[in-house]
Amino acid sequence: MRTVTAYAAPSATEPLVKTTIERRDVGPKDVMIEIAYAGICHSDIHTVRGEWGEIQYPQVVGHEIVGTVSEVGSEVTKHQVGDRVGVGCMVNSCGECEYCLRGDEQYCAKGNVGTYTGVDPADGTITQGGYSQAVVVTEDFVLRVPESLDYDKVAPLLCAGITLYSPLHHWGVTEGTKVAIVGMGGLGHMGVKIAAALGAEVTVLSQTTSKEEDSLRFGAKAHYATSDEQTFTDLANSFDLIVNTVSAKIDMGAYLNLLRVDGTLVNVGAPSEPLEVPAFALIPARRSWAGSAIGGIRETQEMLDFCAEHGILPETELISADQINEAYERVLASDVRYRFVIDTATMAP
Ligand code: NAP
Ligand code: ZN
Repeated sequence: MRTVTAYAAPSATEPLVKTTIERRDVGPKDVMIEIAYAGICHSDIHTVRGEWGEIQYPQVVGHEIVGTVSEVGSEVTKHQVGDRVGVGCMVNSCGECEYCLRGDEQYCAKGNVGTYTGVDPADGTITQGGYSQAVVVTEDFVLRVPESLDYDKVAPLLCAGITLYSPLHHWGVTEGTKVAIVGMGGLGHMGVKIAAALGAEVTVLSQTTSKEEDSLRFGAKAHYATSDEQTFTDLANSFDLIVNTVSAKIDMGAYLNLLRVDGTLVNVGAPSEPLEVPAFALIPARRSWAGSAIGGIRETQEMLDFCAEHGILPETELISADQINEAYERVLASDVRYRFVIDTATMAP
């Protein structure tokens, strides 16, 4: 076992504190990663605050991890010491069910093992996430991170990037597809960049016009404020695909009405409160309402390579570990442009 510095939530209501955690010894198929940077996802906040259900404390979160390999097990073939690698939201799955076999480990019939709050099949402990100096992960759940993508910016691709890439692909976004992204935070801004790179005509639906210049810079054709009721009249029946990234409950009926016939609204935002869908927002235009979770490992690698090819990077603000609590408050206030990334070098004891 190895003791490493980490930042953990002591309870649902207290700030994160500096602590130490144990990482297991490297097994035959494991890779030890010296974490360089870890992104802050809104899911980290939902989780530590108990908004998605009770968890055990103390808990370290963080599932947007990049670092370098420092040790490999005797049977590891995919990664070598010194490689730049990443870990996203999963660290294991059954590997045998129909979903795992087709590369959709995120939908594993037995449930994938989360990078945090999961039960690690290697030793039965609760998995601890990326706000730490190192992590041990089975090689199949470790991604290759292209070196052309800036090391200190790339981490958010491991969750925010893949969570938008996967539905954009699944619903066939291509040249000219009319796509709307609801909420331009960490996930939303990656959605704008990736959809634009796929050739889509992208519209951002944000609470205000304050992010309009950024939307256009990221590749959107238009930006509308959802605080203005006129937006919902002007854009009625406009989109083939809407991706909702909002972390809070919003009026689904109002957004479904913006879909064309046969359009789909995909929910990736995961508020703790149930969302309400009026039947008559779906029926008259054969609309669909769907959900989507991150993406599979093969697809995550494809996304990293796609971003490298297209020069797509998240917009990030680099922080030191002692700024995590302040960063959480800014995420909750929608005051993040557009992802916080923790420099784990600042965790050194
Ligand atoms: P984020 O950075 O906080 O972005 C959320 C955005 O939603 C905000 O920037 C804001 O955009 C908008 N928003 C926030 N509160 C709102 C409200 N009350 N009404 C309307 N709009 C509001 O969060 P994130 O990290 O992108 O995560 C977004 C959600 O996706 C979270 O619930 C997270 O847990 C979930 N998530 C899901 C998956 C998945 O696999 N499905 C993966 C990762 C995260 P504007 O300022 O533009 O309005
Ligand atoms: Zn996430």
